[in-house]
Amino acid sequence: MIKRSVVKCDFCKEKILLRFQMGYFDIPFDFYCPNCGISISGTKLINSNRLILNNAQNIEEDIEDVRYYGNFSTEFLNKKISKFNCLDDIISDNFGPFMNSVMIFNTNEEYIQIMDKVSKFLRFKNTIWKNLNPLYELFFNDKLELIKTPLSNYSNNYIIKNDLDATIALHQLTIIGISNIMPTNTLKEYIETTYKIMLGKDIKEIFVFIDFLKSKIDFKYLSQKIIQIYDKFIVNFEKYMAVIILSLGDKTSLIDKENYGISTINFENMKPFFVESYELILEMITLPIGLNNIIERKQYNNFSEKSNVKNFDSYFNQSKYNRIKSLISEETFSKNLNMDRHVRNALSHYDYKLDKENQIITFYDWNKNKSENIEMYIFDFALLCYENIKLIVYLNELFYCLKKLNYLQMGMKPHINLEFKNES
Ligand SMILES: [Zn+2]
Repeated sequence: MIKRSVVKCDFCKEKILLRFQMGYFDIPFDFYCPNCGISISGTKLINSNRLILNNAQNIEEDIEDVRYYGNFSTEFLNKKISKFNCLDDIISDNFGPFMNSVMIFNTNEEYIQIMDKVSKFLRFKNTIWKNLNPLYELFFNDKLELIKTPLSNYSNNYIIKNDLDATIALHQLTIIGISNIMPTNTLKEYIETTYKIMLGKDIKEIFVFIDFLKSKIDFKYLSQKIIQIYDKFIVNFEKYMAVIILSLGDKTSLIDKENYGISTINFENMKPFFVESYELILEMITLPIGLNNIIERKQYNNFSEKSNVKNFDSYFNQSKYNRIKSLISEETFSKNLNMDRHVRNALSHYDYKLDKENQIITFYDWNKNKSENIEMYIFDFALLCYENIKLIVYLNELFYCLKKLNYLQMGMKPHINLEFKNES
């Protein structure tokens, strides 16, 4: 079912027809006024049918007076804001403005399977995550007593007697939820990689590395930052939903990006999230680098000849952005880390231009020839935000593993089963 509204831009008074594909989810939207370029955003609430608007007003207007229209839905990509001639034009347009992304899936089952995972994730968001977030906060505030009972409510297995138990329970509950929006088997692969840390014969050197890391990284502060980034992403999940669905189905290369785009979030909203999550990745990249050194060369401070530095002293002396050069892509713990550096550097220096009408961002790399500039659709940028989350989930598996070893090293014993159980 389609619901229509006509809105008027607060600034240039342009009238725009908004068409909402009513489904199971509230529809967040964000687009640039096709006349003056200001961002018009809001939410169409599914249950109450209310329309929340920023920078525009809902008006009673005959659609004949409208010059532009836009289509909005949460789970699909939509045709970009277009010139409005008459309603017949919209309806006869290809498969219609919403259907395209569903038709990309080979079978209905394939689509339903992915939507099932997405629904599970939304249930996690609206129930478990809401409760977990304050529990994390209490844990970071050293209020272990206050989280024992709430955690034990989730599983009889959660007998919480020390920080190690709490860390395990909180991590398991989080990762079971997040795994629903990770590609199939990703989590299994990540965890298998961490077995190389837990079960390897290099455990002595890993303990030495943990001591070294603690002199460079505040474990609690880093854990807090990870949870903050997770929270920012989870809270905004619906805005990334269409992109994630296509990514989970491995269909992102089949999109007609010239005509279809993301309507739930704009570039300016994603940019701080992207920069912040990328900074976090750069901070955490020290973990796989040290672990690679151990697994490949026996000592945490033994860097590859292909690396840009010889040891951690010079590693920490370089800028955060250069540290990535010390990560050798073919080594054990680099496997799940595929980075796109140009865009990130350009973004952190704010060298980019945005073509609002076509949803294209151009990133400039001033150090190089102009031909090195990168053009990217906003869709692809949203995809990179999701990629960042996937990278952080991986790096956090490594971090979680080192934290557990650190607690064991301090003499703590686990009272809950260490084995990971995916109950979803
Ligand atoms: Zn306007």
